[in-house]
Amino acid sequence: TPAIAIRDLVKRYAPAGDAEGKLALKGVTFDVPQGGIFGLLGPNGAGKSTLINIMAGLVRKSSGSVDIWGFDIDRNQRNAKRSIGIVPQEIVFDPFFTPFEVLENQAGLYGIAKHLRRSEELLRAVHLADKRNAYARTLSGGMKRRLLIAKALVHQPPVLVLDEPTAGVDVELRRQLWELVTEMNREGVTIVLTTHYLEEAEELCDRIAIINHGELIANKPTRELVGMA
Ligand code: ADP
Ligand code: ADP
Repeated sequence: TPAIAIRDLVKRYAPAGDAEGKLALKGVTFDVPQGGIFGLLGPNGAGKSTLINIMAGLVRKSSGSVDIWGFDIDRNQRNAKRSIGIVPQEIVFDPFFTPFEVLENQAGLYGIAKHLRRSEELLRAVHLADKRNAYARTLSGGMKRRLLIAKALVHQPPVLVLDEPTAGVDVELRRQLWELVTEMNREGVTIVLTTHYLEEAEELCDRIAIINHGELIANKPTRELVGMA
């Protein structure tokens, strides 16, 4: 089974107030194979966030199907949700929570028993062990992004999805985040990331799908795609 299977996915946003309804996904079909780093590349407004929000269960699809790790997001919502971790674009932490508390709190939300929690291990994995007890408001932007990644991995999902992980970050932090994503992938986590930077997708991803105006216009191993450009 693929890590994620998407079939004929359509999303039409209903008109709200005087805003027109919008066909954000026009029948998108693709598989994310297990074990790799999959890049979803496209300009602003292409439909990337819509796609991720549907996978995360935050936005309802209009039609089509999405399976995560073999679980249909409608018929087997609980298992589908447990199989995916989402790293959102915006960083929102309670400023007086510490990294350790953020992870413990998240484990609590998933009903993970105290003795099965992995907060210390996760803090080490994202290189934040020495910030265990610092208030979140004192962390740098890069540290906060790494903490977001650890938070998304608390329930040990086999698939990690990152929405524009390096949008608006400087070159050094971008390198740092790329390295972290690669490390997570080496540990066996299937990675999906969205980006509008071609060079980011080329460097990190072994497979790239390109989405534009709600349609998939390419889906190839990176080396084949780069040959075309
Ligand atoms: P981005 O560059 O992050 O994709 P967008 O302007 O496309 O920025 O969308 C930002 C957010 O604003 C979306 O995630 C969505 O929730 C909301 N949004 C975008 N377009 C509309 C719209 N036409 N009507 C209502 N909300 C919208
Ligand atoms: P991307 O993440 O690739 O920038 P989005 O998924 O945010 O693209 O947006 C795809 C299209 O859907 C855009 O035209 C956007 O304006 C529209 N859109 C996004 N969210 C909403 C919303 N809540 N209501 C109406 N239109 C939306």
